[in-house]
Amino acid sequence: DDTVVEVPVACVAGGTVRIGGPAVVMMAGPCTVENEKQLMTTAEAVRKAGAVILRGGAFKPSTSPYGFRGLGEEGLKLLAKASREFGMAVVTEVMTPADVPLVCEYADILQIGTRNMQNYMLLDEVGRAQKPVLLKRGMAATIEEWLLAAEYILSQGNRAVILCERGIRTFEKSTRNTMDLSAIPLVKQLSHLPIVADPSQGTGRRDLVAPMTLAAVAAGCDGLLIEVHPNPEVALKDGAQSLTTEQFAELMPRAEAVAQAI
Ligand code: PEP
Repeated sequence: DDTVVEVPVACVAGGTVRIGGPAVVMMAGPCTVENEKQLMTTAEAVRKAGAVILRGGAFKPSTSPYGFRGLGEEGLKLLAKASREFGMAVVTEVMTPADVPLVCEYADILQIGTRNMQNYMLLDEVGRAQKPVLLKRGMAATIEEWLLAAEYILSQGNRAVILCERGIRTFEKSTRNTMDLSAIPLVKQLSHLPIVADPSQGTGRRDLVAPMTLAAVAAGCDGLLIEVHPNPEVALKDGAQSLTTEQFAELMPRAEAVAQAI
């Protein structure tokens, strides 16, 4: 049977969101938690537009060691505050096995980033945690390698795994990654796990996020993970791929319309 991952979410009727159920679940928020105002403004806007899960990085993997690496526990506290204020669940990245207990204190879903998809000690550790895990596809991982990474988590006893297609490295340079849309229906055939799409990392370009969101919904994804910033021009990370709050609000009914049509 297909796995449905249940996440407690105060803002919805019944108090639970089901990832892998009939609805496409919207997760949105800033790439990185920068400060309280930025996070609260974004959370309020994405909630109003229909998102039920708030994303935001507190521990940030950074390609350059000189890039912003997140606020750490302070960022987690801000996410928890926004979660209380707007009734949203929180998805945030955990980067090391040692940080798993700390991130579990604040997050509703543990995110494993693309760079850690094959960090087997980390996969084992989140496999022992009592929280759902969102497992990003490694940027150079085949679908088989990705599903085997998911097995690491499942085999430790954690059945609440959500896969996330976030684009892979190809020779194409006009986008940051090549979003592998075919992975969505293929994973649906090969696996019982739900799959969500991240068109922000998948393209690296704000102008491509909306079309790839609609395409991912049409391809059958169970949810979306989208980066939104109140002022992307001054974002500390990933501004080029972050939607404005207005763009996100315009996109939501269009995604809903595609979901209804398929
Ligand atoms: C993110 O979602 O914040 C992120 C860093 O994604 P990825 O691991 O897919 O690059």
